[in-house]
Amino acid sequence: MAGRESIKARTLRANRLLRKLRTLYGDADCALTHKNAFELLISTILSAQSTDETVNKVTPKLFKTYPNADALAAADVGEVETLVHATGFYRQKAKNIVGSAGRIVETFGGEVPDRMEDLVSLPGVARKTANVVLGTWFEQNVGVVVDTHVGRISDRLKLAWNHKDSKDAVRIEKDLMRVVKQDDWTFLSHAMIWHGRKVCSARKPTCEDCTLSKDCPSAGRI
Ligand code: SF4
Repeated sequence: MAGRESIKARTLRANRLLRKLRTLYGDADCALTHKNAFELLISTILSAQSTDETVNKVTPKLFKTYPNADALAAADVGEVETLVHATGFYRQKAKNIVGSAGRIVETFGGEVPDRMEDLVSLPGVARKTANVVLGTWFEQNVGVVVDTHVGRISDRLKLAWNHKDSKDAVRIEKDLMRVVKQDDWTFLSHAMIWHGRKVCSARKPTCEDCTLSKDCPSAGRI
């Protein structure tokens, strides 16, 4: 199906898959618990090499102690390390989130910026993290967030085709942006993450129960 599939055919298939994903996960949103852009940004930085569940366990106390960028910017890094320890790489993450808060206070008047170039100027914030904040909070479809679930499912669905492996996030994002229209980028990412958790897991995808199987070249082959 997908090996010699034209861009046009792949785009049509992507549209069919999106319609099904909307039926399945119409209200899919970011799984990181957050009330504002500051909380989403900090949670997203903490989620690197961790799981959303783990991050959601540590952030209630973190945000109770440091409810905004001003408070976090003035925090003792050692105390922050203790609070975020469970998310892994805690020393670097504590340094990054305190540093990001400091830059938000000094350069952006205490508000999380809503432009890609400003977001990626914050410590610990690369394009992927910025995409999460821009897409989820500011509702700007500037890219597709390719995490481990999105990479794996794009590869299995063959919606991406120029990548070396499912961790090649940059090439996968580029392919997805060619076959999915911009308005759907943020939703696609959220929906694939939910589908990855519920049906198309890394080790044991349940293709027999998958609503996408008719349009999936990998159905029953993993
Ligand atoms: S058919 Fe199987 S491989 Fe394809 S998306 Fe569904 S669970 Fe994943």
